[in-house]
Amino acid sequence: MDMTRIRDRMVEHHVTRRGIRDPGVTEAMRTVPREKFVPPGSEEFAYEDAPLAIGEGQTISQPFIVALMLEKANLDAGDTVLEVGTGSGYASALLSRITRHVYSIERHERLALQAKERFEKLEYRNIDVRVGDGSKGWAEAAPFDAIIVSASAPEVPTALKEQLGLGGRLIIPVGRCDAQRLKRVTRTGDATFEEEDLGGVLFVPLIGEDAWTATHPMYTATAPSLPGTLASEPSSPQDAQGGGMGKIHPLPALPEGVVDYTEFQQTFWAVQRISWIVFTLLLLTCLLGLFGRGGPFSRQTLLLADGSVDFPVISRWNAPEDMTVNFTPSSEDRVFTIDAAFLQTFSVQGIDPPQKATFVREGRIGYVFPADPAGLTQIVFRLQTQLPGPRRATIGMGGESRSQSTFIFP
Ligand code: SAM
Repeated sequence: MDMTRIRDRMVEHHVTRRGIRDPGVTEAMRTVPREKFVPPGSEEFAYEDAPLAIGEGQTISQPFIVALMLEKANLDAGDTVLEVGTGSGYASALLSRITRHVYSIERHERLALQAKERFEKLEYRNIDVRVGDGSKGWAEAAPFDAIIVSASAPEVPTALKEQLGLGGRLIIPVGRCDAQRLKRVTRTGDATFEEEDLGGVLFVPLIGEDAWTATHPMYTATAPSLPGTLASEPSSPQDAQGGGMGKIHPLPALPEGVVDYTEFQQTFWAVQRISWIVFTLLLLTCLLGLFGRGGPFSRQTLLLADGSVDFPVISRWNAPEDMTVNFTPSSEDRVFTIDAAFLQTFSVQGIDPPQKATFVREGRIGYVFPADPAGLTQIVFRLQTQLPGPRRATIGMGGESRSQSTFIFP
């Protein structure tokens, strides 16, 4: 399926309408296939403005937040950038479309390897991925023009500040889970930095030597009553909190000047969903009226050499149905035949007027009616539907037979 239009719509709805204007960022979001960065089976949610689980208790960030972080990093085509917290690889992939080179660190080996594979498949060759503790940065590749940290630290890690080049920008969420602020730290001199607050957010914790640890006093202060938190592996505090930290606020405090339409948008979607359900129900009702039992398309007349058969093609399970057989005038006895499949689909409750004789030949049942050279003979078979679902039955007049399909609603 061509996802270009869906991607364009996501950018329009969740990114540009919410104030992100950087053409480099929006163009990258229109280009990078986000559906390739979510677990199999979640592709249909790839373009919703929501974080999605990617395994290891981690998430791929909400598109709007990624766009906001990238825009606030003031990226340039010649920049060398570091991302801490590769996760699915989506943000690094976006960075790679905007800048010259991307270094990306992830502490979970499985996620790092998976992201690397995705970059290779997509032929994004300007990304280096490493497994490790990103709170210490990537000293050998420094200095960086920008550093994006996709997990929340207790305070801005010193190593990351030191690895910024002059004028370099560090975008990082800082704080406990319930009080995180997105910060931009700009290096203004050898030892001087300017810090700006970009609003409230909610990220998974940055776990490492210069970040949260399972025993970090601020971290443990957030979840004192959770058994096992102190003793748990550093990789699992968010799991210990029921995955709550794996989410980004659906409504992060937006930066100044960005109008928040989220509530209106959610109401609009709810109304849209209900409208679709009502429309589908109405459509089904109309279709059932047309094609359903008793509707103008529920019966079909089959023309054969010796006459015609008015046959029920749509009916309801366990309900009476009529099948009318019209014989053309003839001076010889007339024969109507059905097969075993017919008797599995319908049971014959009565024949009006009744047959003169019945016979079984080559697996078919034949009903014999007396000759009438003067006029048309009409025979009504009173049937009862037997088995729901799509069925086939063979009926015949004289030497001719037809296989006919019929549908019985459960
Ligand atoms: N940017 C990612 C994406 O686009 O999918 C989403 C990142 S997810 C919100 C945060 C990631 O940071 C997780 O994959 C987590 O394992 C990783 N992480 C946490 N602490 C880390 C650390 N000290 N070093 C490297 N990665 C870390």
